[in-house]
Amino acid sequence: MVHAPLRLKQTDLEGLLLTKARWISTKLKARQASALPAMQWVDGASLLWLGEPITLEIIPAARNSRPRLEQGILSLTTTNINDHVSIARRVVQWYHKQAMEDFARRLQLLATKLGEPLPPLALSNARTRWGSCNSRREIRLNWRLIQAKPSIINYVIAHELAHLREMNHSARFWAVVASIYPEYRQAELALKQCSALLYQLG
Ligand SMILES: [Zn+2]
Repeated sequence: MVHAPLRLKQTDLEGLLLTKARWISTKLKARQASALPAMQWVDGASLLWLGEPITLEIIPAARNSRPRLEQGILSLTTTNINDHVSIARRVVQWYHKQAMEDFARRLQLLATKLGEPLPPLALSNARTRWGSCNSRREIRLNWRLIQAKPSIINYVIAHELAHLREMNHSARFWAVVASIYPEYRQAELALKQCSALLYQLG
């Protein structure tokens, strides 16, 4: 699995606090410094789509519509521009749908490259990881990844596919990753750097 490094579980925190008080204090400071303000669901807000910024356009209308992406503008109509909950829900649903289509296509390509039958795919809403692969060969990918650059999405998929062969992070595992995605190191680093940003949508 690929962990989101900026999120620590409560149990992890407690264990670390006992032994590594100084370490954790430094980490928490760094985390606060990198914390980003929560998304504002207003007209003109900036969103991310496959690593590119897109602009949210909220149009007052007699009916609510589903978001539509055209030339970098994600527009939707709403009966109440102050109903941020409804706007947020529709935009997130839109991201889910796009994520499923995009990830399924990439999974197919990379599974073929690895010579493995296509594993079942599901989206996850995990707080602590980007992807996972279980013993039933099911691959789960965090829908938030659709905001990231394609190289990052490909890396996470290659990583989870490699777990079909090696259920660990041994040298043999990384060799499998490299066989289908040679540029994995840069992508892994880029994912760490943009983690907080990808969680900004909530
Ligand atoms: Zn892993």
